[in-house]
Amino acid sequence: MVAVKKFSMKRKACVIGSGPNGLAAAIVLAQAGLEVEVFEAQPIAGGGARTMELTLPGFLHDFGSAVHPLGVGSPFFSSLPLHEYGLEWIHSPVPLAHPLDDGTAVLLERKLEDARASLGVDGEAWCRLVRPFVEHWNEFAPEILRPQPAIPRHPSLMARFGMSALLSAETIARRFQSERTRALFAGLAAHSFLSLDEVLSGAIGMLMAIPAHAVGWPVPRGGSQAITNALCGFLAKLGGVVRTSSPVESLDALPKCDVVLCDVTPRQLLAIAGARLDDYYNRQLQRFRYGPGVFKIDYALREPIRWRAAECRRAITLHLGGSFGEIAASEKAVRSGNHAERPFVLLAQPSLFDASRAPDGKHTVWAYCHVPNGSTENMLARIEEQIERFAPGFRDIVLARRTFSCADLQSMNANLVGGDINGGVLDVRQFLARPTWQQYATSARDIYICSASTPPGGGVHGMCGYHAAKRALRRMAHGA
Ligand SMILES: Cc1cc2nc3c(=O)[nH]c(=O)nc-3n(C[C@H](O)[C@H](O)[C@H](O)COP(=O)(O)OP(=O)(O)OC[C@H]3O[C@@H](n4cnc5c(N)ncnc54)[C@H](O)[C@@H]3O)c2cc1C
Repeated sequence: MVAVKKFSMKRKACVIGSGPNGLAAAIVLAQAGLEVEVFEAQPIAGGGARTMELTLPGFLHDFGSAVHPLGVGSPFFSSLPLHEYGLEWIHSPVPLAHPLDDGTAVLLERKLEDARASLGVDGEAWCRLVRPFVEHWNEFAPEILRPQPAIPRHPSLMARFGMSALLSAETIARRFQSERTRALFAGLAAHSFLSLDEVLSGAIGMLMAIPAHAVGWPVPRGGSQAITNALCGFLAKLGGVVRTSSPVESLDALPKCDVVLCDVTPRQLLAIAGARLDDYYNRQLQRFRYGPGVFKIDYALREPIRWRAAECRRAITLHLGGSFGEIAASEKAVRSGNHAERPFVLLAQPSLFDASRAPDGKHTVWAYCHVPNGSTENMLARIEEQIERFAPGFRDIVLARRTFSCADLQSMNANLVGGDINGGVLDVRQFLARPTWQQYATSARDIYICSASTPPGGGVHGMCGYHAAKRALRRMAHGA
């Protein structure tokens, strides 16, 4: 990480929102010697990284993020002593399982050599696709998790990535001979919320596959709240303060400060800061596009899920959706504003590897599918049909369940506009201009946006907050 220049005169920063990006920004500012105050609307800090008893007492569920390849692999988080503040990563033997209708599952093994063997006829093609980036993760991660376009520090590595990444998932999947490997890649690419024939869907598939081998897909012991608690603990050590149950409705309500970093999305920025931003910038924010939403279910279970493919118990994360064609159809439907009859379901079973999540012998499961933004459709039956398809009898072991529609999610975190968990569509335009061409900067010199609506986008990695705070500090240093 770049060394932090300290200011000689005491400056003050306010941060709105305590999601991973708000906290990352707060830490960078506090490291530079600023007095930092974070204002959080909800009673608990963390935004998308919170853990709560959402079903029954003693069952700890992740409200938002559950599995953290980019958390463990984040260049900024890795530079902090978060383990000293209680953060412990737990890995399952394999990062991901993808069950199929024949009662078997494709497993994405952690070690590349094991993946080569288990993917059989496609093992070599898989390794060719990801190996250079897995082997050079420490160079690759900072390149990819920063604002683009940028002059690459590792041009040949990034040129190689660009050659594959600009393709759609559909085109990349044609490199594989087996339907099983194609299905596996479809599940990875579906994290993009794009149609699998769209540019960048392949890049996201690769960006999910590469860390699986390089750093794993772990969960924090105790849930994603442990990431937040560790960030808050380190921030407190630097003198920063987090004020919960403190919604900010206008920047005018903030204490006097030199700079404000907003961990909010463009629509909220307009509401709380629009009066201090110029008309041209406000119009650009109004044009920002949100992506599909999610419908989520948290389960308290009597016992572990009995998957037809027993090897699914080796993985925390499962992708339920069958073949490439079926997953592609599900994502295409959502991208065109419809609900999939057989939705692609992402499922995590963290309590199999972290006993702190549930009472003795009991389990928690987290599952969601994509839906059109703002959808009011109840997807419970369709999600459970997908789970039953690969684990017959699942419904019989459910002790309690809680569903979250798009509106329910947004009511618990205002950044989840219409249920969009990534802070806006990540298509080519919003990859480069996120949320505008100015990226973190706004039309006001002392106001910055630092949420997942800025580069590099969604996920718990804190890199949006890190880069936004660096940008603010650079400008303050020049203005000083
Ligand atoms: C269901 C779900 C599943 C997910 N799964 C994963 C996963 O497995 N892995 C992964 O890496 N990511 C996952 N994510 C995405 C991840 O949670 C987000 O990308 C990440 O949290 C974005 O961080 P952020 O700091 O930009 O915003 P957020 O985490 O959304 O935090 C924003 C914070 O700002 C606060 N706020 C908003 N407006 C105001 C205001 N006016 N005043 C005061 N406070 C305000 C909010 O209350 C919130 O606490 C998931 C998200 C959801 C919802």
